[in-house]
Amino acid sequence: MTATLIDGKMVAKQIRMEAKKRTKVLKEFGVTPGLAAVLVGEDPASMVYVNSKAKTCKRLGLYSEVISRSLDISQDELIGIVNDLNNNDRIHGILVQSPLPKHIDELAVTLAIRPDKDVDGFHPYNVGMLLINKPQMISCTPYGIVKLLEHYELDPSGKEVVVVGRSNIVGKPVAALLMQKAKWANATVTVAHSRTADLAAVCRRGDILIAAIGSPEMITGDMIKDGAVVIDVGINRIDDPETEKGYRLVGDVAFDEVAEKASFITPVPGGVGPMTIAMLISNTVTAAERLSGAVK
Ligand code: NDP
Repeated sequence: MTATLIDGKMVAKQIRMEAKKRTKVLKEFGVTPGLAAVLVGEDPASMVYVNSKAKTCKRLGLYSEVISRSLDISQDELIGIVNDLNNNDRIHGILVQSPLPKHIDELAVTLAIRPDKDVDGFHPYNVGMLLINKPQMISCTPYGIVKLLEHYELDPSGKEVVVVGRSNIVGKPVAALLMQKAKWANATVTVAHSRTADLAAVCRRGDILIAAIGSPEMITGDMIKDGAVVIDVGINRIDDPETEKGYRLVGDVAFDEVAEKASFITPVPGGVGPMTIAMLISNTVTAAERLSGAVK
C-alpha cells in the first residue's frame, strides 16, 4: 500500500474531546447539552447506532434520552413526540433514527423538528441554508468528511472533487459543502450516480473521490487518478464465514488496489464512520451553545 491512511478514529476522538471541553464550559453556565434519539421498531442496526450515540453522549458529559416506540406508532404520535422534544429545555438535539416504517412520512417528521435542534442537519431549512452559503446545522457525515480533509491539510480549494452518490444525507450535502465559497471548500464538484455515463472516466477526474454508493468495493483501482485522495463512505456487510460474526464490513472502494494508486485513503471501518457520530455530538453541543446563549 502506498497511500497514507486517514485515521477517522483518531480525528473523531479529537472532536469528541473538544465537545467534552465545550460541554464542561456550558455546565459552568448551568447548561448540560442534551440529545434525544427517537427509535421506532427494533431494527438491530438502528438499535446499535442509537445506543452507541447515547453511550457516547453520557461518556462525554452530555445528557441523553432514547425514546423507543413500536413499529405501529402513528405518524401523529411520532410528531407529537418530536413536538414535546422541541419544547423540552433539557433537549438541544433531536434525531429520529431511520429507517422509519412505511406508513410514516419521513419528510413530515423531519419538517416537525425545530431546525435549531436538527442536529442531523436534514431539515430543509438547514439544507437550504447550506446551499446559500449560510450553514447552520451541517449534516454529520459530510461535515465529518470536511473535518478529515482539514485534519490532513488536504485543501479541496481549486481541486476536482468527484462524489459518487446523490443521496440527501451524504452525496448532495457533501457536494454542496465542498463547492461553497468558504475555507476547506471551493472545489469544482461533479456528482455522479447510477445514470452517469462512463463512471470510471468521471471518477478518474477526481483529485478527491468520495464514494457514497452502498455497493461493496465497486470503486476499483482503474477508476482512480494517480495520487487521488479517496474518501470511502460506504458501509457494507459481506458474508465471511472465517470471522466470528460470519460477516465483515467493507466500503464502496476496493481498498487494497485503490490504496496502491491513491495518496490518502480512509479505511472501512475506522474512516468516515467514527466521524459521523463525533459530528453529531459536536452539533448537539453547538445547538446547546446557541439555544442557551451561554457561549457567544
Ligand atoms: P443511498 O442508497 O441513499 O444512495 C446511493 C447513491 O449511490 C445513489 O445516488 C445511487 O444513484 C448511487 N449509485 C448506486 N449504484 C450506483 C452505481 N452502480 N453507479 C453509480 N452510482 C450508483 O445511500 P446513502 O447515501 O444513504 O449511503 C451510501 C453508503 O454510505 C451506504 O453504504 C451507507 O451505509 C453508507 N453510509 C455511511 C455513513 C457513515 O457514517 N460512514 C453515513 C451514511 C451512509 P441513484 O440516485 O441514481 O439511485
